[in-house]
Amino acid sequence: MLKTNDYEFWFVVGSQHLYGKEALDVVKADTVKIIDELNKNGHLPYPIVFKTVATTADSITQVMKEVNYQDKVAGVITWMHTFSPAKNWIRGTKLLQKPLLHLATQFLNTIPWKTIDMDYMNLNQSAHGDREYGFINARLRKNNKIVVGHWKDKRVQNQISKWMDVAVAYNESFNIKVARFGDNMRNVAVTEGDKIEAQIQLGWTVDYYGIGDLVAEMKKVTDAEIDRTYKECQGKYEFVVGDNDPQFFEDHVKEQIREEIALRKFLERGGYSAFTTNFEDLWGMKQLPGMAVQRLNEEGYGFAGEGDWKTAALDRLIKILAHNKGTGFMEDYTYDLVEGHEEILGSHMLEVDPTLAQSKPRVEVHPLGIGDKEDPARLVFDGSEGDAIDLTISDFGDHHRLVMYEVQGKKPEEAAPHLPVARQIWTPKAGFYEGVHQWIENGGGHHTVFTLNVTADQIEDFAKLADLEFINIK
Ligand code: MN
Repeated sequence: MLKTNDYEFWFVVGSQHLYGKEALDVVKADTVKIIDELNKNGHLPYPIVFKTVATTADSITQVMKEVNYQDKVAGVITWMHTFSPAKNWIRGTKLLQKPLLHLATQFLNTIPWKTIDMDYMNLNQSAHGDREYGFINARLRKNNKIVVGHWKDKRVQNQISKWMDVAVAYNESFNIKVARFGDNMRNVAVTEGDKIEAQIQLGWTVDYYGIGDLVAEMKKVTDAEIDRTYKECQGKYEFVVGDNDPQFFEDHVKEQIREEIALRKFLERGGYSAFTTNFEDLWGMKQLPGMAVQRLNEEGYGFAGEGDWKTAALDRLIKILAHNKGTGFMEDYTYDLVEGHEEILGSHMLEVDPTLAQSKPRVEVHPLGIGDKEDPARLVFDGSEGDAIDLTISDFGDHHRLVMYEVQGKKPEEAAPHLPVARQIWTPKAGFYEGVHQWIENGGGHHTVFTLNVTADQIEDFAKLADLEFINIK
């Protein structure tokens, strides 16, 4: 997986001085216990670091400023152990520019009836403090995450874990750089958009390159480099020569490898983590990149075809969120409209992400009618079964709209010997008719990101963080 920063999350506890230093010592000791347990047994993807017991507006403001400028800090988790007057939180919370999780928990999960007294109540006022703190976050329209429950509860730990991935994806969104080789496909509407607004709102940098820049890079690739990768591919995939002459097959696979190596070098040099191609703009190239794109997808690079930079960046973003498992660029192609069997067949002309494969991909070489170039090599496989999400982002002129539905990923029931591309089948959980109807009505495009490793809640949390209009088709 393409590397992201090493992140950590800071833990800040709210309290106040009303009950003396001894009470604050207990608050700190309880907090350290919670953090140790979460770090040891919470199965969290990133560590939590105890920062401070915050009791004054100044200390809260100070720690939030630090959260903002420390690149390694992906977000902050707050807990109101005791009552923490929320006017103290206004300045710091307003300044905070990173994801915030309010952990509405309590040190003990029971009420100790035999020993409880007013001192205990004063020290264990999460229920009280949560509401005071929640009010100010709501009034400041922070759209922060709230997780409710005991800190040892697996459900709570799972929610923290999922949110951490969202918070990291949000931070990393501002590092996403897309290289576009060629412009958008001529006459297509939904792949267009406002690149400046995308950079303001989502942090995406989108740079154009003429295809000649890539062709120049391809010319520098050596035969030794190509042979090395060819061998690696022979070990990794099933080579299906089919009706091709063996030399023709090998040459055409090697041409894709030349493209792959050139693309990787180009992207690495420019710090790009996503890219687009366009079959209308292949001057000087022998093949539309197919297998080349797929192998870069496998490494974590975001991609979309036809110059669709929005989907390429979204693909990279969701791949970060999914730790590059079961996630890739997708296109709605064909319906099965037989009653009781309704489904959507998704694919692309070549470039389907192999992280979606449920079996060993086959390397095949076939003609491609579109683009008017030589027969490209591509990886062919069947997609995966299971709970999945399909999402897209559309530009409505004055804002971006994120359209999503939950789907059931399906295994193909029949072979398709004349369809030489990878395929993913799904049915919207909203029901085929309702789901497709709402997708179309909401202006969701045909280019999407399909993922088996992200939840609907995570997409919703991201949409809130990025202040995107969010349509969850149910
Ligand atoms: Mn397409």
